[in-house]
Amino acid sequence: MSKSEITFFWFRRDLRIEDNVGLFHALESKYQVIPLFIFDEAILDNLPKNDARVGFIHDSLSKIDTRLKELGSSLLVKKGKTLEVWKQLLQEFDVKEVFYNKDYEPYAIKRDLVISELLEANNTKSFSYKDQVIFEENEITKADGLSYTVYTPYKNKWLEKYKSMAPVQEYDASENFSNFYKNNFTFPTLDQIGFKESAIKVIPHNLKNVANYHETRNFPALDSTTHLSPHLRFGTVSIRKLVNWAAKKNEVFLSELIWREFFMQILFSFPKVVSHNFKSAYDGIQWRNDDEDFKRWCSGTTGYPMVDAGMRELNETGYMHNRVRMVVASFLCKHLLINWQWGEAYFAQKLLDFELSSNVGNWQWAAGTGCDAAPYFRVFNPEIQLQKFDEKGIYIRKWIPEFNLGYGQPMVDHAFARDRAIATYKEGILK
Ligand code: FAD
Repeated sequence: MSKSEITFFWFRRDLRIEDNVGLFHALESKYQVIPLFIFDEAILDNLPKNDARVGFIHDSLSKIDTRLKELGSSLLVKKGKTLEVWKQLLQEFDVKEVFYNKDYEPYAIKRDLVISELLEANNTKSFSYKDQVIFEENEITKADGLSYTVYTPYKNKWLEKYKSMAPVQEYDASENFSNFYKNNFTFPTLDQIGFKESAIKVIPHNLKNVANYHETRNFPALDSTTHLSPHLRFGTVSIRKLVNWAAKKNEVFLSELIWREFFMQILFSFPKVVSHNFKSAYDGIQWRNDDEDFKRWCSGTTGYPMVDAGMRELNETGYMHNRVRMVVASFLCKHLLINWQWGEAYFAQKLLDFELSSNVGNWQWAAGTGCDAAPYFRVFNPEIQLQKFDEKGIYIRKWIPEFNLGYGQPMVDHAFARDRAIATYKEGILK
């Protein structure tokens, strides 16, 4: 029997049917389209078996599969090494074309290159699209064509370009839904993928406070930010729809979405930031890197209520409010003189919204080693941060129930730690 001539659409970090650029183009194909997701063992093998992000991906895929079943189709889910899975698919089907959306992380860029070479050797055409950002790679550059390394001019150029084309085009593929391949692939359980349900869940995003975002966003007790981050990370929300909406709602909120793209283009242009200081002049800093101190920070037992509440929120929910992320990150790097890479790695394990570009960018910002970073001599005072942003102690009491009984001693005196940090940085910065 001859094999079916097929187009594949490969879902990765764009887990939605609505306004999905690659899927839109795939469905215009003259061949029927099999939607595919691969649980990549190269990534999964490094995760705990109850990783909540795998559960969220599984849930999101299940929603896609349900929708596809209503359309007489279904999602093909595979698990394995990506290259091996593709080799097997090329055996099984007569694959004419493969469509996918671009991913700008170093691992993904390498993986996609390997797969596109395999497809080319098989005479299969592949097409990749910009989907997870408004402006990618080198679309926002300085007059000399080089990448911006300072946020404000990047943002201004971003806004100018966006306004010249607003609203950006959205992609409604519903006209071609009949082009999904008619089949009934079995949708695997989480167990079959080798994972278990986690008690930690991604919560739905919440846009109702965006009108007042500029006034409320810094107060963790209000919990008034959108919780969009895991949805943007895994693409369950479209950035085009969000930005077209946000641009009319709140400028400050829009500027946060631009920070996301700023850090993505930094990672794309300077991939070394994953494991090196953006500013190599800071390579000489003598970090203390004390294991016991690090454990106290991780477990939220530093004796500084705002730091401890933040770390406990992270450990219990996979989320931490942005203001508190800044406080705990500054505390780790400056008060404890622990290399930002330790904190970055801990956040990467725990955050439901872990995004390599934003995590590395913000950690390096806090450590002072990044592009457009906080100056090294700015050392947040965790007590003052608490007075300013959680004056009534509502946030800290939520995460530190024993707080009322009297809270322990700070593990290090603020004035001492501040002077030590400034002296260590000063000494370490290569002239
Ligand atoms: P909102 O305030 O509602 O913001 C909306 C969206 O704007 C966010 O979902 C996010 O996509 C974007 N955004 C907001 N602030 C930033 C920022 N500073 N940098 C980049 N994008 C931003 N964000 C991640 O998505 N993944 C990470 O791994 C991550 N690591 C961080 C590490 C540190 C040390 C710090 C200080 C910040 C980090 N952030 C990270 C940025 C920010 O804290 C989160 O995006 C935000 O708290 C998510 O909550 P929200 O969706 O309710 O945010």
